[in-house]
Amino acid sequence: DALAAWVDYARRHGALIIYDAAYEAFIKDTDSEVPHSIFEIPGAEEVAVECRSFSKTAGFTGLRCAFTTIPAAVTIPGPDGSRVRLQDMWKRRQSTKYNGCPYIVQRAAEAVYSPEGQEQVRATIAAYMANAARIRSGIEGMGLSCYGGIHAPYIWVKTPDGMGSWEFFDLLLSRTSLVCTPGAGFGPSGEGYVRFTAFGSEEDTTEALERLQGLSL
Ligand SMILES: *Cc1c(COP(=O)(O)O)cnc(C)c1O
Repeated sequence: DALAAWVDYARRHGALIIYDAAYEAFIKDTDSEVPHSIFEIPGAEEVAVECRSFSKTAGFTGLRCAFTTIPAAVTIPGPDGSRVRLQDMWKRRQSTKYNGCPYIVQRAAEAVYSPEGQEQVRATIAAYMANAARIRSGIEGMGLSCYGGIHAPYIWVKTPDGMGSWEFFDLLLSRTSLVCTPGAGFGPSGEGYVRFTAFGSEEDTTEALERLQGLSL
């Protein structure tokens, strides 16, 4: 419903939505409320561009491979006010300025879709999500509020006693040698929160939780 409201807004105002679906693979299918693609929303094919990446799905962060879906029906206003097809502009841009993803990396991306690749990707994501569940319960056990970590590998924690993001970051670093991401780095709405990642080994996550729980707040 929230995404449908954005699509509706874009359609009414002639706006373009650039939808970053980098964490699509982390959506749990037992909860069908969360769409995997913005194109599940009727009408989105006229106002939305979707970015998909292999970076988080298959641990490709350093390899650099991704793809972008630009439906033929997406148009934007041109200099004279007439509507221009974004797909044509993007094709022009890509064929002039981009030499393509290295062949070996494309073959690796292709392998992600093989039955064996799908199996490996599922196992890796399941391991990260198991970390996420442990981080969530550890944080909640400390009496702190947290959000996320269900359809995404990050857990947002409300800092205790209205402490600033950076203040809490410093406290964790100096007292436990742990790092988190201060929410303020994401913009003003992130102030008062920090983000923990589930992208670690099981052992490191265990160690981090032990140190965190030893902290008296
Ligand atoms: C990691 C990340 C990306 C990166 O995508 P690349 O294909 O590696 O450029 C994009 N969006 C979000 C929200 C991410 O966390």
